[in-house]
Amino acid sequence: ECTAESVAEAMRAVAAVVVEHREELNRLDREIGDGDHGENLARGLRALESKLDEVPSSPGGVLRLAATTLISTVGGAAGPLYGTAFLRAATSVGDVASVDGEAVAAALRAALDGVVARGKAALGDKTMVDALTPAVAAAESVAVTGGGVAEVLAAAAEAAEMGADSTVRMVARKGRASYLGERSEGHLDPGARSTALVLRTLAGRAR
Ligand code: ADP
Ligand code: MG
Ligand code: MG
Repeated sequence: ECTAESVAEAMRAVAAVVVEHREELNRLDREIGDGDHGENLARGLRALESKLDEVPSSPGGVLRLAATTLISTVGGAAGPLYGTAFLRAATSVGDVASVDGEAVAAALRAALDGVVARGKAALGDKTMVDALTPAVAAAESVAVTGGGVAEVLAAAAEAAEMGADSTVRMVARKGRASYLGERSEGHLDPGARSTALVLRTLAGRAR
């Protein structure tokens, strides 16, 4: 069952994992950007963690709190993009007390649509979209066959990891990495990596 309390618990786990991987994300961003991706996300998620001392009354409320906190504390390119993703996911979920696999897949689709609307990145531009797009497709295909939240998120995480890995051979066409042109090839995109980490953590927490 996926309730406000379990979504809050999952977001606390996301905060812990991102803080744990902060240096790795900074290093990836140092290779093709300005080296702050881990720092940016860790700051926002720590802020969220402290706000979760008081858990909102619905899963959508937790996602909305994540969105507003990330938008106001992360900055950079990733702040508004992650913020938009969580905001669209929150709106998709609505104020129901519990969400199922289908609702999770729909929320992931809404998150992707929000990121694309905001950042205008296409598949293959070497961004978080390259992790999130296959994740949504995988989530939807498991959800239509009646998969539960855990199965939907596990499929999404698996696909996101493969999608993130696929960014290594891409040339960046969006964000700071695009300033490097061809020299961005051969490096893993930090935002795609963090997206896969977030989904893997959510999958690990899903019941
Ligand atoms: P900044 O580049 O402002 O320092 P971050 O380092 O926190 O911000 O985030 C960089 C990540 O943001 C990139 O690795 C990429 O995945 C993602 N990104 C940048 N621009 C876009 C965009 N237009 N659409 C989608 N994702 C983007
Ligand atoms: Mg950066
Ligand atoms: Mg920056």
